Amino acid sequence: MSWEAELLVQLVSTYLTQAASYFIIVGLVYWVTRKWAAALLAKRRIPVQGRALDGAQLRHEVGHSAVVLAFGAVQLGVITQLQRLGYIRLPEDLGSWGVGGALLAIFLIMIGNDLWFYLVHRALHTPFLFRHVHKVHHRSVDLNPLTSYSFHLLEAVLITGWLLPVLLLVPIPLPVIGVVQVLGLSNNVMAHLGYELLPRWWVKVPVLRWSNSATFHALHHQRSMGNYGLFTRLWNRLFGTELRGYEQAFTRGDAPPQESEAAAVRGG
Ligand SMILES: [Zn+2]
Ligand SMILES: [Zn+2]
Repeated sequence: MSWEAELLVQLVSTYLTQAASYFIIVGLVYWVTRKWAAALLAKRRIPVQGRALDGAQLRHEVGHSAVVLAFGAVQLGVITQLQRLGYIRLPEDLGSWGVGGALLAIFLIMIGNDLWFYLVHRALHTPFLFRHVHKVHHRSVDLNPLTSYSFHLLEAVLITGWLLPVLLLVPIPLPVIGVVQVLGLSNNVMAHLGYELLPRWWVKVPVLRWSNSATFHALHHQRSMGNYGLFTRLWNRLFGTELRGYEQAFTRGDAPPQESEAAAVRGG
């Protein structure tokens, strides 16, 4: 088999494995939250102000997720080829990094990724990029696990834009990359769950209160502005883009009243 054919087979098998794993995981979370435990979780449901979930939204989300997953497979193929050619080195164990180094790396990658996402996300909310790219993700107002990867191909390119340069510069051990991937997907599904599973006291505890939450991101989808972060509230607080009333909405389990854009993002 020629190397081109081998590469194509590898790409297709990576895509099918990743897509199947993704849809099984999010499908299961969807079924548990929306069907199996729906009555039990009813009090945890985040109120939706806007278009309710229907078949058209689900088809939109599955279709765009399939494209985003294909991009992920191509990206992985590129990384694998660069590794084969010696441009990227991904050690299989922690080596001299040790557990302490690995934990520090995970922390730094997540904070860096959070800032990158914040900046890209704010750019995506400028009129041109919103209309042509980010609108795909904001088609969903009634959030569910399938919303997690429902975005435009160009958005996938932009939000993962940091990955290749970092891998070319730093030989990050595979276990570190694995943990970051699991945390990233868990956070993404949690943010689009449509249910607030964190306890009400969460926003009263130092450190914990600065994390992202399902309510935090649900408000972003309902208002189409503010709360641009991925893992934390830090950059929103720093740059004054947090939606006002978030903590009250989180504590009461409801959505704050609609406000004008200027008033809504001022302070917290
Ligand atoms: Zn979202
Ligand atoms: Zn957005």
